[in-house]
Amino acid sequence: MDKLRREVQKLFGIRLTARQMAAFELYEQELTEWNSRFNLTAIRDSDSIRCKHFLDSLSCAVAWKDKPPGRLVDIGTGAGFPGIPLKIIYPGMSLLLVDSVGKKTDFCRHLVDKLELDRVEVVQGRAEDIGRLAIHREQFDWAVARAVATLPILVEYLLPLVRIGGSILAQKGEHGPAEAHTAEKAVHMLGGRLRQLHKIELPSVVEDRYLIIIDKIAATPPQYPRRAGIPSKKPLDLAPV
Ligand code: SAH
Repeated sequence: MDKLRREVQKLFGIRLTARQMAAFELYEQELTEWNSRFNLTAIRDSDSIRCKHFLDSLSCAVAWKDKPPGRLVDIGTGAGFPGIPLKIIYPGMSLLLVDSVGKKTDFCRHLVDKLELDRVEVVQGRAEDIGRLAIHREQFDWAVARAVATLPILVEYLLPLVRIGGSILAQKGEHGPAEAHTAEKAVHMLGGRLRQLHKIELPSVVEDRYLIIIDKIAATPPQYPRRAGIPSKKPLDLAPV
């Protein structure tokens, strides 16, 4: 855990408090325990949890520094990544965690309880449905997602949820730059504009990692997101203009 503290300081310039360190420790314990019963994630050993889950999730901080979003939504959060590690380091932020699979949202609820996190809501549902609900649509400052879908699909999940002037952040692997290119049309159709591709290097992760940041500059047309299942079946990059 000391290593995690040093890496977070070195990579992101953030000094973790004793309370935050304890929260990461408890997170790791609970994840390991639930994994042995429910198979939540493929990454299981301690070092990998710290690096591939915690550090990688925290790399979103590079986009925000000391100005985290007031309201964040994490789509396809799985076992809470990247939303919960970010909430641990930015306790003032309000957070909505969304996943379509009940055993994942059950774990997230359990963890939010255990870690005594406030202003966190966990919803089991599909991004396409959440994005059409007035209580959630265009309500967030930022939307994030890691390892959920390719970018042309992902922007249809995320952009409807953020307000004009807000932004989305997609955590991507080595195909990030190519995906940013194929998503151009979808980004435009949904009211977004590509701001930045930020390369992230993590210790003991060989693959290149990218943060793709897209600003929302116009309202998302009301027909998006399309019905659940359609964005992944017919991504907007393939649709005729
Ligand atoms: N973000 C986590 C989990 C990635 S796995 C991590 O990086 O570890 C992808 C997750 O997205 C799965 O838990 C899956 O249930 C969820 N998911 C995929 N499509 C979704 C959709 N349309 N709406 C909500 N959740 C979705």
